Amino acid sequence: MTSVAQPHSASITAPTRGHHQTVLDELGMPRDPNNLYLQTIDAVLTAADIMGLPRHLQLILAQPKNEIMVHFPVLMDDGNYRLFKGYRVQHNNAVGPYKGGLRYHPHVSLDDVKTLALLMTMKCSVVRIPFGGGKGGIKCDPRALSNNELMRVTRRFVSAIAPQIGPDYDIPAPDVGTGAQTMAWFADTYAQISPGVPDAMAVVTGKPVELGGSVGRDKATGQGVIDALAVIMPEFGLQFKGATASVLGFGNVGGWAGKLFEERGGKILAVMDHTGGIINKNGIDTKALDAHVAKTGGVAGFSGAEKCSEHDFYSTKVDVFIPAALEQMITPERARLMNCKIVAEGANAPTTPAGENILMEKGVEIIPAILCSAGGVTVSYFEWVQNKTQSRWSLDKVDNELNRHMTEGAHRVKDNRAKYKVPVRTAAYIAALENIGAVYKLRGIFP
Ligand code: GLU
Repeated sequence: MTSVAQPHSASITAPTRGHHQTVLDELGMPRDPNNLYLQTIDAVLTAADIMGLPRHLQLILAQPKNEIMVHFPVLMDDGNYRLFKGYRVQHNNAVGPYKGGLRYHPHVSLDDVKTLALLMTMKCSVVRIPFGGGKGGIKCDPRALSNNELMRVTRRFVSAIAPQIGPDYDIPAPDVGTGAQTMAWFADTYAQISPGVPDAMAVVTGKPVELGGSVGRDKATGQGVIDALAVIMPEFGLQFKGATASVLGFGNVGGWAGKLFEERGGKILAVMDHTGGIINKNGIDTKALDAHVAKTGGVAGFSGAEKCSEHDFYSTKVDVFIPAALEQMITPERARLMNCKIVAEGANAPTTPAGENILMEKGVEIIPAILCSAGGVTVSYFEWVQNKTQSRWSLDKVDNELNRHMTEGAHRVKDNRAKYKVPVRTAAYIAALENIGAVYKLRGIFP
């Protein structure tokens, strides 16, 4: 019989602010609660202080190893040229090659990409896959570009960063605004311009299955959310059967998390995306919603639910709230409205620190993205292994191995929370830093 967890905030020691402040000072980093990178590095180094990560490793992790920024012209369909800005940030490669997605979004910025690269280092380490962390992006609105324009933008970006990536060095993947087709163009371009590189097509993961992608990669991040929930829900006396959830964002991650939640016997009561909110107290048919989104581009106008306001979406009473859209969407105002037991972060960094404090005061359990959204990169690792060994795994093998990495990662985080009496996000950073610290101890610092 599983025990029902008490709200844990009362027994949690507030993370101490100490040693790492001198690291931030030495690097000249100001304290700016509105800057996502500074916020994130502060939280990571707070965890580093608690678990005793040596100061020199804190210094190293506080900055990415490389920040690459490129500008490149692309011929548009109307005959004009446009100049695009692209980024690749390589945060750390002590554990293995840089790894992380490539996002196409109008708000892509250097700080954003730096934060996401840092989080990839942490994410790969929590679930113990042998990769470091990186992230890239192009500042553009993919919805406003034609397929041919997207292809030319992608190919030209690859040619700009090709000397700085590679199948054993830095391996991009899909993220917001990119998908399997983008990865196909990416891999093809890289292979065309890198004739001497063995396994050139392994330079990206998330490829279509026909091009060496892994079965199960498309649903992997959503599946990982469900695997993490399977460990955490019983602590709250919950099981999927009969549980309720809301999903913010119904793209690849939210769509799959919603469908798999329903498949396990739960109900999705409310969904919101860039087109609006919808609600159905009897449960939304997520497969039908998926088909509607594929056809129309968003959840608005879905006939199997009522339209709802943002206020109603956030305040709907559910067991699990799954943010699966962009960063920093759970603001304090929205956190105050939320009425759930668990937040399962399917997106990267969806919760603001101030929003998180409010959720913790309410006793809400947050499964942080570096664990909860690690399913995608885990199956990316399986894809890379299959490419490197010229082999093909079955869907069963992918699902079982993914479940093993996610379950072990979730237990690691739970154990650290109990051991250090810290919030679960801090416990997750500690789980990641333990691994990175051990690797650095063995490798030492060159020369
Ligand atoms: N973009 C995904 C993430 O943020 C996947 C990265 C990858 O597969 O390398 O985790």
